[in-house]
Amino acid sequence: MTAIAPEHRADFTARVRSAAAVLLITACAALVYGLGVLHPIDDALSQWRFRLLERPPSATLTVVEIDAESLRAAGGWPWGRDRFARVIDNLNGAGAKVVGLDVDFSAPSTTIADDALAASIRRWPGQVVLPTFDQQVGRGADRRQISTRPIEALAKEAVLASVNVPMDSDGRVRRYRHGFDTAAGVRPSMAATLLGRPPSVSDFLIDYGVDAAAIDRISFQDAYSGKFDPALVRDRHVLIGSTAVELGDQFATPKRGVLQGVYIHALAYESLRAGRALQSLGVPFLIACSALVALFLRPRTASGYAGSLRRHLLVGTASVGLPVALQAWMPISLDAGPVFVAQGLSLIWLVRNELQRRAQAVVQAREAHLVQLADHMRESRDNISVAHDKLAVANVALDRALKARTDFLAMTSHEIRTPLNGVMGMTQVILADQTLPDGLREKVRLVHASGETMAALVDDLLDVAKMESGTISIVKAPMDFRRLFDETLAVWSDKAQVKGLSLTGDRAAAPALIEEDAGRLRQILFNLLANAIKFTEAGEVSLSASVDNGPLGDQLVLTIADTGIGIAPDELERIFEPFTQVDDSRTRKYEGTGLGLAISRRLAVAMGGELSVDSQLGVGSRFAIKLPLRAAVATSETTAQPASLAAASVLLVESNPLARGVLRAALSDQVAALEIVESTAQAREAIALRGCDLLLVEGKALSVFERSAIEVLDEFAGTVRGAKIVVLWGGEAAEGLRLQEAGADLVVQKPIAASGLVERLKTVFTFHDLDEASPAHPRRNAQQPATRLKVGAL
Ligand code: ADP
Repeated sequence: MTAIAPEHRADFTARVRSAAAVLLITACAALVYGLGVLHPIDDALSQWRFRLLERPPSATLTVVEIDAESLRAAGGWPWGRDRFARVIDNLNGAGAKVVGLDVDFSAPSTTIADDALAASIRRWPGQVVLPTFDQQVGRGADRRQISTRPIEALAKEAVLASVNVPMDSDGRVRRYRHGFDTAAGVRPSMAATLLGRPPSVSDFLIDYGVDAAAIDRISFQDAYSGKFDPALVRDRHVLIGSTAVELGDQFATPKRGVLQGVYIHALAYESLRAGRALQSLGVPFLIACSALVALFLRPRTASGYAGSLRRHLLVGTASVGLPVALQAWMPISLDAGPVFVAQGLSLIWLVRNELQRRAQAVVQAREAHLVQLADHMRESRDNISVAHDKLAVANVALDRALKARTDFLAMTSHEIRTPLNGVMGMTQVILADQTLPDGLREKVRLVHASGETMAALVDDLLDVAKMESGTISIVKAPMDFRRLFDETLAVWSDKAQVKGLSLTGDRAAAPALIEEDAGRLRQILFNLLANAIKFTEAGEVSLSASVDNGPLGDQLVLTIADTGIGIAPDELERIFEPFTQVDDSRTRKYEGTGLGLAISRRLAVAMGGELSVDSQLGVGSRFAIKLPLRAAVATSETTAQPASLAAASVLLVESNPLARGVLRAALSDQVAALEIVESTAQAREAIALRGCDLLLVEGKALSVFERSAIEVLDEFAGTVRGAKIVVLWGGEAAEGLRLQEAGADLVVQKPIAASGLVERLKTVFTFHDLDEASPAHPRRNAQQPATRLKVGAL
């Protein structure tokens, strides 16, 4: 078996559907026609056709009207039959061919009158037609045919014709019969009898196109009195019937209202006479026409919607025009109603299909649009993904570049720091020489101060590098806040005084002991105070500390306010960016690198707080630091003696000879005894022999022989017997912290100025002995001992 291709199957289905629709439409048209629903349409159309095809009567028939005047003249109804006898005589005497009477003579009247009429009829043999009424009576099985004839005396003399007028179901008279079946055989109708047509029971449609009003007429009264034009009678057929309303012989017609019975016969006569006894084309023909129309008008893809509409127009015109044409040339009446129904249904079918097609087209267009959109989205997604990949590559490259820059910055800073320490150490050694001439001393001091400024700058750069690489470390430890506050104020009072400014402080509302990174806190305060004094020419600078118990928890609030030059509103955020100064021209007047605020804000954030500014140009500025507040309490734990650095014996382990020289210069005057060794092995020996109060060991010396610094420190912790261990650490800050955990009392992050180192070392012996930072070193790193305080609530 061969498979049917899907397109053929679809084609076949469409054909079957189309055929089914044609059949359905035809059936509907037939049903509607059969139910008589279309009568009003067909009547309207046929009326229109009759009017269109109106024609004059044949002038071979005259109607004698028993009108209202005749009734009045005769003094009412019924009349004596002698009256009819006289009229028959008058008419036939005037040359009438045949006189037909549409008057009931079935009841006997007076014998004289009946005889007079019979005599008259006898005088004109074959020229007088009397009516019979042939009708069906009774119902069902009792149904029978009854013929009502004129009384016998008249019937036997006259020609008899049936005057039945059959009505359609709607009560209208459309048809006329040639004759009627009676018990005595087929009786011809009045019109057929007048024209002498052979007997038949077939019927036809009356041609109402003949104008009934144009048929010649004579009033019965005139015919009776002989006052009529004989030309209207000579060689003509004459029909006598009633037109007076009171006699009620009226019928509804499909044309204009009602028509008297006599005129129905007259029109039927005219139809037969002119050969226009109309025949309607039968129901099968109409159904066939409807089927053909439905078939012709079925929607076809090939011709399109416009083509189909053109076909509809054609069929519409034809179904109106064709019946007119047919009726004009032939005695045919065509009911176009079923065709109209078929066309109407076909139009609905066509419009429905067209709407469906358009809806489908819209859906398809939408679908195509959606597909396009989806393609677009896919393309965009691919582009994004490509861009994403490129971005990832760029990010990696950027990260690498940033790291390289940071590493470079850190390394360069470190490399600068080492020789700088040498310079500063040596200048310090030279300055310590009391025999130095004053002029030379001043110059050396200048070199030393410049070195310290440079060291501060390098420290700043190093901080920025650490911040950018995210390696900045905050080490929070219990600290004496008030002491830090007082000392900071003391340090900056001198500077302020030199500029003629007053520096005030208020810490009444501040806690004494807190847990914080003292070095970083000092760094921030120094930066802000340095700026306040630098950018204020007159007035005052104030530093205040308080506690804010806000919804975010307790916060330590530090405020630095000045009456200086102020900052423009649009600069307020920009100043926190690295290397930014409000006005470049100002850098000539105010020295600086543009790093201080950037570092301070990042530090404040790293400490869990914030740094903000509020300023007005020409009025002054107010910087506020808010830090989460954690209070600490002092313990009673005492330290091992000695009580201070000055009383301690120090063992220094340093492998770098240059560094050894610098450290020796820095420390020898500050401690009770200083022994310097080059390695941990020598250190262990020295401890075993002489012991020490403080072991100061350089980080690199710790990690010898591929052992980790922590391991070696562990060993030392076990052997130093209560001595303090301080590590000079140049590596990662995090590792420095681990060293502290492994037993170091203090880890000093390198690089650090010699003087700074001394200050740190002092803190190992007493917590209160906070180091004093030099105003020339405002931004250096400082660490606090972490072992003397316990963290707790205030
Ligand atoms: P530096 O002070 O080294 O230039 P900073 O980052 O500390 O760098 O400050 C950035 C800029 O912010 C300063 O150059 C100055 O223009 C402005 N600024 C900082 N503090 C103040 C202040 N208290 N009053 C006015 N301007 C200030």
